[in-house]
Formats: sequence, structure tokens, C-alpha cells
Amino acid sequence: MSELLVTGGQVLRPDLTVERADVLVSQDSGDIVAVDEPGTLDGDDELDAENGLVIPGLVNAHTHVAMTLLRGLADDKPLDAWLQEDIWPVEAELTAEDIRAGAELGLVEMIRSGTTALSDMYFEVEEIAEAVDQAGMRAALGFTAVTVGKDDEGARADLQESLDVARKLDGRADGRVRTTFQPHSLTTVGEEYLREFVPKALDEDLSIHLHANETADEVAPIVDEHGMRPLAYADDVGLLDGDTYVAHGVHVDDSEIDLLAETDTGVAHCPASNMKLASGMAPVQDLLDAGVTVGIGTDGAASNNDLDMFDEMRDAAMLGKLAADDASAVDAGTVVEMATANGADLLGFDSGRIEAGANADLAVIDLDAPHLTPAHDLVSHLAYAVHGSDVRHTVCDGEVLMRDRTVEVFDEVAVRDRAAERAAALVERAES
Ligand SMILES: [Zn+2]
Repeated sequence: MSELLVTGGQVLRPDLTVERADVLVSQDSGDIVAVDEPGTLDGDDELDAENGLVIPGLVNAHTHVAMTLLRGLADDKPLDAWLQEDIWPVEAELTAEDIRAGAELGLVEMIRSGTTALSDMYFEVEEIAEAVDQAGMRAALGFTAVTVGKDDEGARADLQESLDVARKLDGRADGRVRTTFQPHSLTTVGEEYLREFVPKALDEDLSIHLHANETADEVAPIVDEHGMRPLAYADDVGLLDGDTYVAHGVHVDDSEIDLLAETDTGVAHCPASNMKLASGMAPVQDLLDAGVTVGIGTDGAASNNDLDMFDEMRDAAMLGKLAADDASAVDAGTVVEMATANGADLLGFDSGRIEAGANADLAVIDLDAPHLTPAHDLVSHLAYAVHGSDVRHTVCDGEVLMRDRTVEVFDEVAVRDRAAERAAALVERAES
């Protein structure tokens, strides 16, 4: 029996109060054993949280982790042109080894910035699952199916692979990997394929993750073709019947917000990506008021351009206020909950809160910094002032992934070097 004591710090509790406490975690079960007054608990090993704030590990609810290789490759363009001219031609050259290298780089970046769980959409998912296993993190993974531009055989093979991968990888990494069925979006997967494959995913109780209502440009064609709003169409083909969350949900009208709430469909809000691609402002406060579970995602590093969930919390709060035209909308406590408990709910993990019985997924923030002084309100700091680089330790499933800013699960320099080399070779291949 091995127990780790996170000691000497302040702790963010599920009700968003902060108290001086020690946190005892079991490295056998991977759960939090107890949260109690300083000096009352004992562990076999200790993690120093002096002058620190212990928070739940952050949950990145929507990303494409291997896209770190494409970071900074092309910026300052709208979504369609950016995908077609810059991103897809390079992605067509990606090998399994590239995806492994990009995933490892992204996971190191996440560990460094206090993220312990992610929901990913991509391909070569076996490689990503192995990287997640080595990282010691939690993830909801899946193969992203696209049918546009493919013949019937290719289209059906893609959706079948999404089902097969979800079935095969669920429970990997000692249960830290879960899976989702992933039609890429409502415009990139044909209706006949959704009608054929969504019921199969539902029959197997697979969770579903897709992009929806990201740009204004994708709404009109769906209304023209199907005679209904995108999410009504998604519901019509069964996509909202399961344990489903949609990435973005920017251009949703009131009827779609109600539909999300009624069907218990979650939203992974990606504020930085939505701003950078000028996709629009998601009505986050309206979604929350309607009872929709909203998490926060970075989206891929190519449209962000980093995977720092503290940046993302700040962006979510700022953009949410602009969208609502109300400075009290999407407040500090709300974005902290979105990035922790709400994200864990979307992914189906028992993490996102520091309390006995929850997954022992946490990060310790160093409060000893000029930009975090004074400390009137630490929840405000988490939303508006903390950076990913303020994270001192990261723990997932009771295991220490980073101690005193040294990543223990990867050789960080080797990961960075390999990713940089592969990214350079990849771009060279795409251009030749
Ligand atoms: Zn995305």
C-alpha cells in the first residue's frame, strides 16, 4: 500500500472554497483517500505544496493533440481556407510515428500546465493511446470519420474504423483511456452514413464526440439540405440520443440550446480557436443557464496556438462576457468549474474535484509570484492570472507526472527534439 501526501498548501474544494489542508492519495487505487487539516495525515511519500494551491487536474475537453506538429505553420486565415490550403495537405503526409511524436509533445505541454485529462479527435489512435499510457494521463480517444471526398467503400470503412477503434481501445492504460465514436461533423459525414452507423454506436453504448455549429458558414447548407437547424438534424439522425458532446456549439439558436439541455448533450467550448479563426462567440452563459454541461477545450495547437488551459479559462470568461454583453456573465468560479468538474463529466471520468473518493488527479500551483500577489481571491487568480508555467507538480491517478517542474514520465528534451525534427521533415514532404 503506497500513499502520497500533498502537504503544506491550500486546497480548492468542490464548492470553490479554499482551505488549508493536506491531501492523501492512494497510488494503488488512484483515488483521493482524505482531505484533512494540516498535520493530521501521513503518507509514504510527500509532495511539497508550501505556498501552493492544490487544484483538480484540468480537463481539456476538445483537442487534436498531435496537431502540435502544425503549431504556427499557418495563421490568420478563416477555417475553410486554413483547413484546405494549409492543414489538410500537411495532415495527408502524417505517419504513425509523426502522430506519436506530436502526441507526446502535446502531452508534455499539458502535464507542464496542469492538465491531466483530454478528449482527443484524430487518427492513428493506437499511437495516441500508447502515448497517453506512458504519460500516465486520462483520455477519451477516438478515430475521426470523414466521408466527404470518399467513395462509398471508403466512407463506410472510415465509420466502421471509428466504431472498431472505440471498441478496441476502451479501458486501455489500466482504464485511464475511454473512447468515443466520432463523426467529424454534420457537414463532413453524409446523412446516409450517419443513419447507418449512429444506431450501431448507440447499440454499443459508445459515447459520441463531434464538431457542430462551429462557423456560420456551415449552418446554412444544413438548413438548405435538411430543412432544419444543425442540432435538430443531429437529433433526427440519433446523434443526441446517446452520451454525446459537441465541440464548439458557437452558432446555436434558442431552440438548439433547449434541445441540448433536453437531450443532456454537452458542449466543449473552445474560445481561443473560435476567436483565432473568427468563428464567432458561443452563447456560453445561455447554455449554462439552460442547464447544458459546458467544458473547455483548447482545440488543436494549430488554431490556438498552445494547450494551456489557464489561457483557455481566461479566454472563456472574457469571450463569454462579450457574447452576453454582460460583465457578470461566465464568472471566475464558473470557468474553473468548466475546466475541472464539467470537463470530467463530459469525458465520463470521476475526476475534476478534490474530495475523498474522487480520482487522484491534481495540480499544485506556485503562488509565490508577482503576478499572483496579493491573494485576495484565489479562484479569481485561477481564472484570470495564473499561467500554465506556474504549475509546480502534476499528479494523475495518484502518480506524480511532474515534480518540481521536472516531467517524470517522459524525457522532455528528447520529446521536444523528436517532435521538432519530425515537424520539419513533414512540412518538407508536404511541399515537395
Ligand atoms: Zn476540433
